[in-house]
Amino acid sequence: MPMPSQQDAELRKIVTQHVDQLVKVIEESVRREIADAVVAMCGPGAAAASRPARGVKARSMACIAPGCSNASKGPRFRYLCADHMDAPAKDVEAWRAARKSGARQEQAPRKRSLRPARAAGVGRGGARSMDCIAPNCGNRSKGPRFQYLCDKHIGAPKKDVQAWRAAKKAAG
Ligand SMILES: [Zn+2]
Ligand SMILES: [Zn+2]
Repeated sequence: MPMPSQQDAELRKIVTQHVDQLVKVIEESVRREIADAVVAMCGPGAAAASRPARGVKARSMACIAPGCSNASKGPRFRYLCADHMDAPAKDVEAWRAARKSGARQEQAPRKRSLRPARAAGVGRGGARSMDCIAPNCGNRSKGPRFQYLCDKHIGAPKKDVQAWRAAKKAAG
C-alpha cells in the first residue's frame, strides 16, 4: 500500500532546500572561477605570455596610413585605424600599394643575401658535395679540409685532384 504522504512532501521540501543551497554554492564557485580565468586572461601575467604573438601582430596590424602608428582594426577595415577608417578609397589604395612595394623592397635583398651563402656553403647539396671527387669513386669524402677526397684518394697527386675538381665544377 503506497503512502503518498506528509513524509513525501517533507522530503521534497528538504531536498529543495538543499538543492537551493547547492545551487548557490555552485554559482559562487563558478563565479569565482570565471573571475580567476578573466584575471588570468587579462591580467599582467597573461600580457607577458602573449607578448611574442603581440609583437608579430603589431607589425602587420599597424594602420597603413603614412606616418600613422596606430593599431589598425584589422583586415576587415583594410588595416586602417579608427582615425583613418573613413579615408577615401583612392588614398587607401595608394597606401596599400606603397606598403606592398615597401615590403617587397625589404624582402628582396634579404633573400638575395641568403641564397648564395647557402649555395656556396652547407646547403641542401651538402650530402652530395661530400662525395669523393675522384671519378667513379662512390666513397664519402672527408670534407673540404681533405679537398673532398675519400680515404683512398687522399694521397692522390695534386694534378689529378685539380683535374677532378675542375671536372666536378664543370659538371655543376
Ligand atoms: Zn591611422
Ligand atoms: Zn675516392
